[in-house]
Parts: sequence; C-alpha cells; structure tokens
Amino acid sequence: MNLPTIIKNKCPRCRKGNVFNTKWNILLFKIPQTNKNCSVCNYKFEKETGFYFGAMFVSYWLAVAQFIVTFLILYVGFKQS
Ligand SMILES: [Zn+2]
Repeated sequence: MNLPTIIKNKCPRCRKGNVFNTKWNILLFKIPQTNKNCSVCNYKFEKETGFYFGAMFVSYWLAVAQFIVTFLILYVGFKQS
C-alpha cells in the first residue's frame, strides 16, 4: 500500500495515471468521474459485472440480524402488560 498514491488518486498499478478525470470540488458540488482505463498503462478501473454480487448476501443477513436485535429490544423494552 502506498498512501501518497491513494491520496493523489493515482493508478494502483503504474502509480502515474489519474483514476479520476476531474478534481473533486465540494464548493461546486462536482463529483469526479472515474476514467475507464489508465492513460499510462491501460489498467481497467471498472469492476466486472457481478463483482459485488457476493457482498449482497452478507449485507442481507447483516440487515436481518440487525432487524431481529432491534425487534427484540423494542419488544422487551415496550412490552405492554
Ligand atoms: Zn496505470
């Protein structure tokens, strides 16, 4: 890991090409666009289709667990007798 490369938004392979085509400016509400490929080494920045598919199942069960814990806390805490 090279922290200056991450801060400068440079390519993870060659560390020379820019990941984004514009600089981020919070005052102008401009969100930078990601380049499709590195201009120096042609590294592909975009993930392939389905890259985050497995994370969807983990996220689902984490949400279910959070729901169950919240339900039990509220059910016990606000139980009407
Ligand atoms: Zn590169």
